[in-house]
Amino acid sequence: MKKFRIFTILIAIGLFLNCSKDSDNTTPSGIDKSANLLATGDSANDILSNTAYSRLLIEAAYVTGFRPTSETMNNFETYLRNRTFKNDIQVVYRELASPDEETLTLQEIADLESENRTAYNDGQTLAIYIYFADAPSDSDDEDEGIVTLGAVYRNTSMVIHEGVVRKLANRSALITISDVETSTLNHEFGHLFGLVDLGTAMVNPHEDPDAENHCDIAGCLMRAELEFGGGMMSVLEKSKLSKGVAVPTLDAECILDLQNNGGR
Ligand SMILES: [Zn+2]
Ligand SMILES: [Zn+2]
Repeated sequence: MKKFRIFTILIAIGLFLNCSKDSDNTTPSGIDKSANLLATGDSANDILSNTAYSRLLIEAAYVTGFRPTSETMNNFETYLRNRTFKNDIQVVYRELASPDEETLTLQEIADLESENRTAYNDGQTLAIYIYFADAPSDSDDEDEGIVTLGAVYRNTSMVIHEGVVRKLANRSALITISDVETSTLNHEFGHLFGLVDLGTAMVNPHEDPDAENHCDIAGCLMRAELEFGGGMMSVLEKSKLSKGVAVPTLDAECILDLQNNGGR
């Protein structure tokens, strides 16, 4: 009898340890989240190549009223198909209520992801979570003209400050919402691709000495100024006026780095 009781206590402890160990990395349905909780750039090769994952699942979660335009998402998909070997790319949309925050820290954004994300790596599927937020970043200084358009914070997670993107685009007669959305999405996704020297090694040196993980080549999508509102708008307007197309693309050096790490 005593033996039996000790046995049940041991089972109970075992269950408790399992539960507490898994609670951080597993969804209630038992999905393992750990592969999606790594650092930015850690999954560059997995995103670019078909070696470990053949399918890309993008969960586009947006606050009601802040869904990206379909033109943007088509541009974004084209960018993914041009730079990676993934043929099977699916975007699923998920509408979320506003968190009713005036500003958001990256920690708050990561916490919201833990609450709302449903797509995680599974078998041949690599899942990415993109949150289109209504609120701006808490690090913005509007008086100084420093507004953040987007950010990456893990290997398969990023945020687009959609409210800020729209406000900026609406001020310009030359630039559309889709121009700013596409440029921001593609730039931030460039960091998930591991650019520059953020999980994807440089073939030739071209990292901006004044801006870590950004490119120093004029006109490249991975230029640091594209991270912030003022820089983004002047780059897009200049490009629109001179080339007729606003959205910047990756330069040859960035593309070479991606090709060297399993990309197209
Ligand atoms: Zn950047
Ligand atoms: Zn570049």
